[in-house]
Amino acid sequence: MLMLPRKQAHLKQGGPERHQRRLVYVVLTLMTGYFAMIGSLNVFLFHAYPTAALDYIGGIGSGLFLRYFYQSQNLRIASMGVVAILIAVMLVFVHIADGRAYSLIWITLVPPITFFLLGRRMGACVTGGVFLYIIAFVYLRLPQWQPIEVGLGTLLNIIEVFIAHLLLFQLYERSRSEAFAELEHLSETDKLTGLVNRSRLDVILSDELLQHERSGRPLALILSDVDHFKRINDEHGHLIGDDILKGIADFLFAQCRQSDTCGRWGGEEFLIICPDTAVEEAIMLVERIQQACHAQKFINDIQVSLSFGVAVHTAGTDADQLLQRADYALYEAKRQGRDRYVIAQDTSSD
Ligand code: GH3
Ligand code: MG
Ligand code: MG
Repeated sequence: MLMLPRKQAHLKQGGPERHQRRLVYVVLTLMTGYFAMIGSLNVFLFHAYPTAALDYIGGIGSGLFLRYFYQSQNLRIASMGVVAILIAVMLVFVHIADGRAYSLIWITLVPPITFFLLGRRMGACVTGGVFLYIIAFVYLRLPQWQPIEVGLGTLLNIIEVFIAHLLLFQLYERSRSEAFAELEHLSETDKLTGLVNRSRLDVILSDELLQHERSGRPLALILSDVDHFKRINDEHGHLIGDDILKGIADFLFAQCRQSDTCGRWGGEEFLIICPDTAVEEAIMLVERIQQACHAQKFINDIQVSLSFGVAVHTAGTDADQLLQRADYALYEAKRQGRDRYVIAQDTSSD
């Protein structure tokens, strides 16, 4: 449904740093476990003791950095540590392997990790540096290398690098989509009340109008304004005023049906978009809200009343015209003495 689940409004913590932290934890943990495992494999299966020693050094280094990061939470140092350990171990490995067993394939892990952890500029510099170094290394060593021998070690190197890429890009994509969702959510949510904001209401209203034009089903708009809210601010202060607005938002949201969208239109005005709602049902909803509001007490036992303008969509009416009719009706409700609702006249001349 078009309505944004309101609970999401409270998922505010985040930002890019959270994703980087997660990556550092995941990479350091994997590196610690991986190096320990591969080190043992190199001892018992391949009897490649220098590589095994390198793996163990990498494992211990990663473990120490993991502990350091856990205790200090210093993301910058930990990120640089991850990159430094990875690059150091890879380069030493490339040197030891000296062209054998597709060892160079490990270098393909440098760009995703450095870009993610060090940012665009540093990532480009470090990756460029490592690539240049490897090109020079291959250029100098190539004459001495034998034709590529393909054995179990080669296969393992290829598989491990593929798996590492898969894991990395999974993590990447998850971080990217989470960050996008957070951003999207923030751009659609009113900060004070947690309801959808005006720009999101605009989008929802246009979408609903399109659907209702096609289906011919009714659609109602309820524009509500808190009565004499200025007085509340003047008597109790702006902060209490804010708390009351939050309370009113919670109250209205709770009164609405699942299919309705309740959002903050601005200041102390709220808009409820009611799909599949004819004028009789809109009246029932408004009367129910009014009754509940009379019984409702907000912070410091303060009571408020609300005025409503109700407009029902008729064929050929666009969003602006419908809103304008709801606004006129609200104005009329205020003019008639507040704490009431007025139904907008169905005029085709507006
Ligand atoms: P009426 O019954 O005619 O609507 O009277 P009113 O006092 O509610 O109307 P008016 O539009 O004159 O004042 C609205 C007040 O709402 C003024 C403004 O300071 C207050 N207000 C708007 N947004 C906020 C907010 O986010 N927090 C607080 N505390 N007050 C707000
Ligand atoms: Mg008001
Ligand atoms: Mg107002």
